[in-house]
Amino acid sequence: MFERLTIPQKGSRIQIKAGEPVVPDHVIVPFIEGDGIGPDITRSAQRVLNAALEKTYHGKKKIEWFEIFAGGKAQAVYGEPLPKDTVRAILEYKVAIKGPLTTPVGGGFRSLNVTLRQVLDLYACVRPVRYIAGSPSPVKEPQKMDVVIFRENTEDVYSGIEWPRGSREARALIGYLAKEYKVAIREDSGIGIKPISEYATKRLVRMAIRYALTHRRRSITLVHKGNIMKYTEGAFRDWGYEVAREEFFDVTISEEELYGTYNGRLPEGKVVIKDRLADSMFQQVLTRADEYDVIALPNLNGDYLSDACAAQVGGLGIAPGANIGDEVALFEATHGSAPKYAGQDKVNPSSLILSGAMMFEHLGWAEAANCVIEAMTRTIQSKQVTYDFHRQLEGATLLKCSEFAQAIVHHM
Ligand code: NAD
Repeated sequence: MFERLTIPQKGSRIQIKAGEPVVPDHVIVPFIEGDGIGPDITRSAQRVLNAALEKTYHGKKKIEWFEIFAGGKAQAVYGEPLPKDTVRAILEYKVAIKGPLTTPVGGGFRSLNVTLRQVLDLYACVRPVRYIAGSPSPVKEPQKMDVVIFRENTEDVYSGIEWPRGSREARALIGYLAKEYKVAIREDSGIGIKPISEYATKRLVRMAIRYALTHRRRSITLVHKGNIMKYTEGAFRDWGYEVAREEFFDVTISEEELYGTYNGRLPEGKVVIKDRLADSMFQQVLTRADEYDVIALPNLNGDYLSDACAAQVGGLGIAPGANIGDEVALFEATHGSAPKYAGQDKVNPSSLILSGAMMFEHLGWAEAANCVIEAMTRTIQSKQVTYDFHRQLEGATLLKCSEFAQAIVHHM
């Protein structure tokens, strides 16, 4: 079935039955080590994740790690950065985890991350952002933030539909718009196109609402710039409300109903659907972070807001993430491959470790996820940290990447 992969002898794969994953106790999980700091953080993350499973389930549930290749290692093994084997393995095994991949600048191929999201149709980028007590933060009350961001992953200005100034396509479009629609665009403009569809919006918001319901979250905020871009961002808001009304009418209420009918008290088993303009939202997450819970947004604003939120709780080094589709989920470190620290056993592995905890939740292994988060919290609170936190925390002990992982295991 695979050209050059060795399937583990033990363990079995996740099956999808009636749209739901059925997870075996001894599950095979493919992993991509990644480039740059990838090997360091992958080694540390697997150590912590294995230990959490052992501690929580005493051998009854465990992961059989299955190495698959992308990036530099794939180039060495297959002569190409994203071999078919890799895509096939993720599709077959349903859940995988990856380290960061380097995108060569001007090298002629698109980001491997973007390609993976597209070929696997991982339409939601999901990023939980919450404060791990003891982490350095630039804000006064970082503990107020506890949001889960659902960013649309497949369209918006990320569709790659754009042409440079003076190109045949740009000139043709400018001419066409002037002639047919009397729209004046300067001759020396580059042109980009921003498609946002009902289909992609609704499947994203549907996933966010389902998540909010199963995780007993209070609200979903649709973030958009609909006052300016009415038929893309504004439509995102309208379709978001529509999917709530049409498919979840008995479990969702509007903000007006919350205050008008329920006096501000959320009835049991319901979630509030609200919306905010993107510019205002950037203020809100700073000044009223605790009023937000699940957040759904289009691609570009989602990109900005997730990094801004992550910065409030300690930065990308500690922010987990996943790209999720209807059947397949790919968990990943949210930062890049930081090539200058490659092979130094130095960087913070928290992002990948917490992505692993997210993966545990996705598998239905919430106790093991809590075990990881609690042990990491105790480690950071005891000020045993890697260099990035060390320089911001007075009296802290500097640990290597692998030592930090060991300290987390010690705190379980
Ligand atoms: P980067 O995130 O790799 O690194 C920027 C800086 O952030 C580093 O120099 C380091 O100071 C810090 N940093 C990053 N991760 C850290 C960690 N775990 N612990 C402590 N400090 C950390 O961003 P970049 O330098 O812009 O990108 C490098 C490469 O990674 C590029 O090729 C880029 O395309 C790629 N990239 C990949 C992903 C991904 O795979 N998801 C995401 C972003 C960037």
